[in-house]
Amino acid sequence: MDYTELGDYYTCKNNKKLTVNKIVKRKSKTGYISEKTIYTSEDCSNCEHKSKCVKGHNCKTPLEERVKNLETLKLFNMLRKENLERIVSEEGCELRMNRSIQAEGSFAEIKQDMGFRRYLSKGKKNVLAESILLAMAHNINKLHNKIQSDRTGTHLFSLKKSA
Ligand code: SF4
Repeated sequence: MDYTELGDYYTCKNNKKLTVNKIVKRKSKTGYISEKTIYTSEDCSNCEHKSKCVKGHNCKTPLEERVKNLETLKLFNMLRKENLERIVSEEGCELRMNRSIQAEGSFAEIKQDMGFRRYLSKGKKNVLAESILLAMAHNINKLHNKIQSDRTGTHLFSLKKSA
């Protein structure tokens, strides 16, 4: 359904308006309070899409008497939209590309290039010490490569511009 911010309503495929009917607050087990907005259609009578559009077929009220209710979490939708904008922005693309190179690449380098397949020690403390040594060795290796390619002072690979 299409949302119109100015006026705060949805428009369905039968061109009917769904306006705010009520707001329900719910507290989760962790104490988080979420706010659900319920939009209700102005009129669903004689609509050909009704059997697919109106949910809850176990309801005692006959389908003919029911109208469409749409539940939505406004805060969640707003945050999701903001996130998507960040993800597809140029900076977002650069950070995602670098994450795949730097984080995933590090495991590949340690396992494949450095030939690390299994820990030589046992016990949490020793495994942690071995992991720290591995990470230090990997970082020194990275620094060496950066010095060689004159990339010190830069943290990110820049995006290649396509033609
Ligand atoms: S059932 Fe109601 S909300 Fe759904 S398409 Fe028809 S008129 Fe619109």
